[in-house]
Amino acid sequence: RFLANMSHEIRTPINTIMGMDEMILREDATGISEEYSGAIKNYAVSIKKASEILLGLINDILDLSKIESGKMNLIETNYDTVEAIRNVVSMIRVRSNEKGLNFKVEIDRDIPKILYGDAGKLKQVVLNLLTNALKYTDDGGFTLKIALIEKRENSCVLYFGVKDTGIGIKKEDIKKIFAPFERVDEVKNEAVQGTGLGLNISRQFVKLMGSELKCESEYGEGSTFFFTLEQKVINSDPIGEFVEKYDEKPSGRYIPKFIAPDAKIM
Ligand code: ATP
Ligand code: MG
Repeated sequence: RFLANMSHEIRTPINTIMGMDEMILREDATGISEEYSGAIKNYAVSIKKASEILLGLINDILDLSKIESGKMNLIETNYDTVEAIRNVVSMIRVRSNEKGLNFKVEIDRDIPKILYGDAGKLKQVVLNLLTNALKYTDDGGFTLKIALIEKRENSCVLYFGVKDTGIGIKKEDIKKIFAPFERVDEVKNEAVQGTGLGLNISRQFVKLMGSELKCESEYGEGSTFFFTLEQKVINSDPIGEFVEKYDEKPSGRYIPKFIAPDAKIM
C-alpha cells in the first residue's frame, strides 16, 4: 500500500516536470543563438527521456499493486485493429532505427477490422515484449507477428509473437523471468535499464484476458515470446495489407489552433 500511494503521489510532480519540459521544447528560438538554443534543447530532451522512464516505472508499480490486490479488471471496448497495431509499432520504430536494428512487422491480412476486447492491456503487453526485444538485442533485429489462427462464429483466435535475434535466455532462467523484480544475466545486462516488472505484468495481463504468455529461447541465439488470444469480432472485414503510418512529430514553436478567452473550465 505504501508503494502504491507513494507511486501515485510521485506522478503529480512528474507530470509538472514533463509539462514544463515540453514547454521548453516548444519555445520559440528565433533571435537566439543556435548554439545556446541547441544546448537548452538537448538538456530538455534528456529530461524528457528520463521522465518518461520514471513515469513508466511508476505506472508499472501501480499496475503490479493493482494486480496483487485483485483490483485489476479488463476494460473491454470495440477497437480498430490496424489503429492499435500502428500505435504500438510507431512507438518502437524510432528506437529500433536509432539502435540500427531490423524491426519487421508481419501482420496477417485476414485479421478482422474491428474487434472487442481490452485493447489497452493488449497494447501494453505487445509493447513490453517489443521493448524487451529491442533492449536485449544488439545485432540483427526482431519481428512482430500477428496471425489469425482460427475463425469462430462471433470471435476469432489470434497469435501474437515477438521473435528476436538477441542474447537469449538460459533454460533454467526462463521460469525466473516472469517473477516480479527478477532480472537474469545481470553481468551482460548491466548497461540495460530495467526493473524486472514488464514480463510479470504482461503475463498477468494475458492471464486476465484468458490466455498464457510463453517463451522459447536459445541462449546466445535469440528468444520468442508469444501467446494466443480469443477476441470477439465486431466487423469481420479483413484488414488487408498492413501499412505503417507515422504521426508527424510537432517541431518548432507550438501554435494554438484557436484561442477561447471567454471559455470557463468546469
Ligand atoms: P522492465 O520492468 O523495464 O520491463 P526488464 O526488461 O528488466 O525491466 P522484464 O521485461 O520483466 O524486466 O524481463 C525480465 C528479464 O528477462 C530481463 O531483465 C532480462 O534478463 C530477461 N529478458 C526479457 N526479455 C528478454 C529478451 N527478449 N531476450 C533476452 N532476455 C530477456
Ligand atoms: Mg522489460
